[in-house]
Amino acid sequence: MNVAILGTGYVGLSTGVCLSEIGHRVVCIDLDEQKINNLIQGISPIYEPGLENLLIKNIEVGRMEFTTSHRDGLKGAEIIIIAVGTPQKNDGAADLSYLEQAVKDISIHLEQSAIVVLKSTVPVGTNEYIKSILDDRCSKQAAIEIISNPEFLRQGSAIMDTMKADRIIIGYANREAANKVLEMYRPLNVPFLLTSIRSAEMIKYASNSFLATKISFINEVANLCEAVGADIKEVAEGMGKDKRIGEAFLRPGIGYGGSCFPKDVKALLHTADLHGVHFSLLKETIAINDLQQETLVRKAMNRFGDLKGKKIALLGLAFKPETDDMREAPSIKISRLLTNLGAEVVAYDPVAKDNARKILGDTITYSSSINEAVLNSDAVFIITEWKEIKYLDMAKLLKNMRHPIIFDGRNCLDEERVRACEALEYYPIGRPAIL
Ligand code: NAD
Repeated sequence: MNVAILGTGYVGLSTGVCLSEIGHRVVCIDLDEQKINNLIQGISPIYEPGLENLLIKNIEVGRMEFTTSHRDGLKGAEIIIIAVGTPQKNDGAADLSYLEQAVKDISIHLEQSAIVVLKSTVPVGTNEYIKSILDDRCSKQAAIEIISNPEFLRQGSAIMDTMKADRIIIGYANREAANKVLEMYRPLNVPFLLTSIRSAEMIKYASNSFLATKISFINEVANLCEAVGADIKEVAEGMGKDKRIGEAFLRPGIGYGGSCFPKDVKALLHTADLHGVHFSLLKETIAINDLQQETLVRKAMNRFGDLKGKKIALLGLAFKPETDDMREAPSIKISRLLTNLGAEVVAYDPVAKDNARKILGDTITYSSSINEAVLNSDAVFIITEWKEIKYLDMAKLLKNMRHPIIFDGRNCLDEERVRACEALEYYPIGRPAIL
């Protein structure tokens, strides 16, 4: 099939290379000229395992093209996927301005009939809203059908998640259009679910809000474990054995971040407020998360009394491993808290340094290795469980630190290795400290 994709960010680009890989001809359209120029040369603008290989391969076989021209990109497209950002407005609502612009671009340049597939995360009712705009504005010969097809990929495993999705949701009003989109995905051979358009929109927000709530729940249980002397590792394992609960998302940490959970929970809460539905659980999910992002700083304050002049090494900056995305990463709040308290922050991340610098500027120092970051530090904060951080050489690390103290925000260091380092003070989350 001929597929055009508007927006070549994490979602649009991952979707584009995967659809190409299963045989479709894909044109990716983006407003960002530099991004498109890089993509034409097979250079991915984002760090995502496996993506660049597929990108180069599919450009070479002629199934992938890139353009900044909506007119060129939309020519001959049977399916048009919209994957532009829907960030958060100040009041928590989803900002639909990029989407409205994308819809305008389609209405101006589309000459043939097509199916518009909305992948961006949007509040209930948005698909109907954009269908009405397209029906009003598109030329008489272009009949538009709309499909709500929310995306569930996780950054860091976007290609795997697309190729082996748990499910594909197709929200539809026109069955023929739904069948055509199913046809597009058929080679992936993954489960799908046909729903109404409004249910599809809700499935996305409800899923992300549920996962975020699960994280806040286990973080709060971890805090309670610390208070009563229980061990969250054992507690979570015991809970997870219950199939009704499941093992996933029961790992405590420093709170959720990223481009989706924070904004999607707030957007769902905003929708509930608009409709007079009392969804105060989501308010608590957010409040717990805000506090949890401060937990390592609180632990360090308890340990040192005062952080003024202390050198803290942050290991990891990205909101999770295998991505360079810094949107809403807990490291932002942690860095700001530390510098406000007069600490000196030196950070290391294998890929997110440049994106972090755009947000944190020169308020912190960026190192090019773990050892450089920890040199003469008073404490290490583990922020992101990159493999090289999880398996770091402890003996070497401790030799270079001023004080051998680690606050592990991801409970990712192996307990036996920690115990083997006699001089080390180790503070995990929800578990007894090892002193
Ligand atoms: P992103 O910010 O990485 O990329 C969006 C891209 O759209 C940018 O490159 C931008 O230049 C481009 N764009 C904006 N307006 C355009 C227009 N009129 N025409 C063409 N291109 C345009 O966004 P993302 O992280 O890929 O997220 C996209 C959507 O998918 C959001 O609604 C998000 O909530 C949702 N989503 C994201 C993820 C994720 O992990 N990032 C997962 C599931 C769903």
